Amino acid sequence: MVLDTTTLRIAFGLMALVLVVLFYFSAYRVTRSPYSGWWCVALLFFLTGSACFLLNGTAHQIWANPLGNVLLVLGAVAVWTGARSLRTLPPRKWPSVGLPAVTLIAAVPDNPATNTWAGGPVFLATMSISIGLASLELWRLDRSYSRMRIPMVAAAGGLAVFYFFRFLAFIIEGRNGPIFVTVFGSAVTTLVTMILLVVVSFSMAALSSEQQTRTLRVAASRDDLTGLLNRKAFMDLAAERLADHSLTPHSGALILADLDHFKTVNDTYGHAAGDLALQRFAEACTATVRPTDLVGRYGGEEFILLLPGAGRDRAQLSVEEISRRLAAFPADAGVGMPTVSYGITTYGNGASDVDALIGAADEAMYTAKALGRNRAAHSDRKP
Ligand code: GH3
Ligand code: MG
Ligand code: MG
Repeated sequence: MVLDTTTLRIAFGLMALVLVVLFYFSAYRVTRSPYSGWWCVALLFFLTGSACFLLNGTAHQIWANPLGNVLLVLGAVAVWTGARSLRTLPPRKWPSVGLPAVTLIAAVPDNPATNTWAGGPVFLATMSISIGLASLELWRLDRSYSRMRIPMVAAAGGLAVFYFFRFLAFIIEGRNGPIFVTVFGSAVTTLVTMILLVVVSFSMAALSSEQQTRTLRVAASRDDLTGLLNRKAFMDLAAERLADHSLTPHSGALILADLDHFKTVNDTYGHAAGDLALQRFAEACTATVRPTDLVGRYGGEEFILLLPGAGRDRAQLSVEEISRRLAAFPADAGVGMPTVSYGITTYGNGASDVDALIGAADEAMYTAKALGRNRAAHSDRKP
């Protein structure tokens, strides 16, 4: 059976078109996930790039052939960029511009009017590199992400290797060599790419909705004003930590913080100034604690922290550091930062009830208030 390249390219183009339309309406319009957006862009590049090659053998080949190469490389770069977006990394500027640019520069002086393989080896190499980068990026994706990344890693990795062998065959035996034409020729490539596009589109739809679910989950666990955990998210995470007795040592500190005379800040300087003070306090907390600690907005001007592994002294030093950072913020328009009262309780082996810890910290916090505010008090209650 002889596979006719032109017919295959038309079939490929139609399939890519159907995928773009389906993907745009079923995945991108619904999820708006960056990854599905990049995949639509990639499909459009593959579609138009492949269409350019239909002009081979006509008077338009001189511009259409190099343009086709560049569009296909841009498509591969878009797949890579999309894979990066899954790890919330920005596009890489230089390779994104450089790989297509090199492809074009190699094709132009290589007689694109008559040579359908103008700049061929460079095109095959840049395709292999950009698809390989996409595969690597997907491989590095958080293991917990999804099994769906595996077929995509395999598809992209396989295609990168395929292009690499095409490159080798081209270099070794030239564009008319028997292996290059039969095993790695345009017809086979078009067929292989068709199959892979379907595999990737299918997995991508699953990943896009997963990406959206993650974004929504993060948004639902955060307090809008400060970006800290909201009360429910904090309580859930703290309960999880306390229940996990595999963590050693199973001890730590729970701290309640309440901004002093906060009503006066609002009454004197306005609600916006109050909001700013809350945000500054949140910044002071996150700048002070460790990445494994939990910080949440408990409600209004009250905050809550869980410092696993911290004893009484580290908890005390932490709150002093938070207050010091808060006071160090420049007074915007004459609005000074409020002071803060803290209630600290520590827990040891066996503690697993967050509510009991909060009760103890709350009592200590009222002691701090009663003693004149702007200080920390420790609970002696053993929860
Ligand atoms: P104390 O030192 O005893 O804690 O006095 P306080 O004024 O801080 O305590 P009180 O509970 O009387 O007042 C808390 C104030 O916090 C009242 C409320 O309007 C304000 N507040 C709660 N949430 C927000 C918010 O999101 N933004 C602003 N600007 N104010 C808030
Ligand atoms: Mg309060
Ligand atoms: Mg207060």
